[in-house]
Amino acid sequence: MALGIIWGLISVYAEFDGFSKDYIAPWGEIFIRLLKLIAIPLIFVSLVSGISNLKDISRLSKIGLKTIGLYIFSTVVAISIGLLLVNPLKPGAAFTDEYRSEFNQKYQESIGEKQMAASNLKDSGPLDFVVELVPDNIVGAAADNSRMLQLIFFAFLFGIAMVALPESKTGTVKKFIDGLNEIVLKIIDFIMKFAPFGVFALMVSLLVDYANQITELFVALGAYSGTVILGLMLMIFFVYPFMLWIFTGYKFRKFYKAIFPAQLLAFSTSSSAATLPVTMDRCEKKIGISKDICSFVLPVGATINMDGTSLYQGVAAVFIAQSYGIDLDLMQQLTIILTATLASIGAAAVPGAGIVMLVIVLESIGLPTEGIALILAVDRVLDMLRTAVNITGDSTIATIIAKSENKLIPPE
Ligand code: ASP
Repeated sequence: MALGIIWGLISVYAEFDGFSKDYIAPWGEIFIRLLKLIAIPLIFVSLVSGISNLKDISRLSKIGLKTIGLYIFSTVVAISIGLLLVNPLKPGAAFTDEYRSEFNQKYQESIGEKQMAASNLKDSGPLDFVVELVPDNIVGAAADNSRMLQLIFFAFLFGIAMVALPESKTGTVKKFIDGLNEIVLKIIDFIMKFAPFGVFALMVSLLVDYANQITELFVALGAYSGTVILGLMLMIFFVYPFMLWIFTGYKFRKFYKAIFPAQLLAFSTSSSAATLPVTMDRCEKKIGISKDICSFVLPVGATINMDGTSLYQGVAAVFIAQSYGIDLDLMQQLTIILTATLASIGAAAVPGAGIVMLVIVLESIGLPTEGIALILAVDRVLDMLRTAVNITGDSTIATIIAKSENKLIPPE
């Protein structure tokens, strides 16, 4: 990223921005295309495989429902905090109005179409939003990025049908889907290996595009990162301690001391899945959660509960809208809550999954996915921070569930 900034600044000031535009910028475009390419297979396969793995949940139905309910609750709280911060703080307003309308015009075609599709919903009856969730043609829904929610709906239906059938009938499909899931994760891994080059190219083309707004660009990115970080801090220092206090009476200093090594590992690996063994170990030995609760609640959390990720998606979507001079109405903000919740359930617990899923959130409210280029430069650091929040959320909820089941025995 730093190299990209340096090269970008040199291109602008030494005036060989034409070269950068022709030969470097396309690699950034390729990176964005790869992210969009993998978003649809990822959401379908990981949702189906996630839901079909929840067979155990029906067995442990009471704990299962409680766990999922709390996970969804904390996710919605996290996104709402993100939206409550980003709307008044307006990090995207750092760009001048002139520039914002210029950019709006540049992407007018795609913004126009998508916004129209989004606002068609507003103009229709109150239940049309629900009607729009149901696809009439699954191939059509998968081919049209603005119909992501329909694909999610189908994935849910598919997964639930799999759970409802005996294993003898679905075993082969399940193996197939699990295999596909592994393949999609590997592809994301490849894409992330290419990320440094993609981010380099995007930074260069961003600086060339924003040649007259370079200071504003840095101010806006700083304000955006600050907003995400502020939201994440609120989760760590306010929401989780409050939840722990209300539901368990557990001292939050003791709690944080216990899970600190897991938070550190999450921060350095940017993967809640890679951190899972340490999270489980700390929760069991240092917080005092029983083994059976740990081995059920934490793996489910690593898959479906990503408070940090969803908070960041809410902030990022509104920031991109602000930078393009697009106003989002209440309906669109509610759609962000819905899609970011579903996206965080569908997101894999690996580095960069949040940004792939952001494609879905942006598409669902008709924002240009090109906007991702704006925030990619700072994404890695934010990924590290949000992953630490993700595993803190999982551990908090595991503690609450353990307490409610009388399975929390804090070590002396
Ligand atoms: N890296 C995150 C995690 O593993 C997901 C993301 O936000 O990209 O929890």
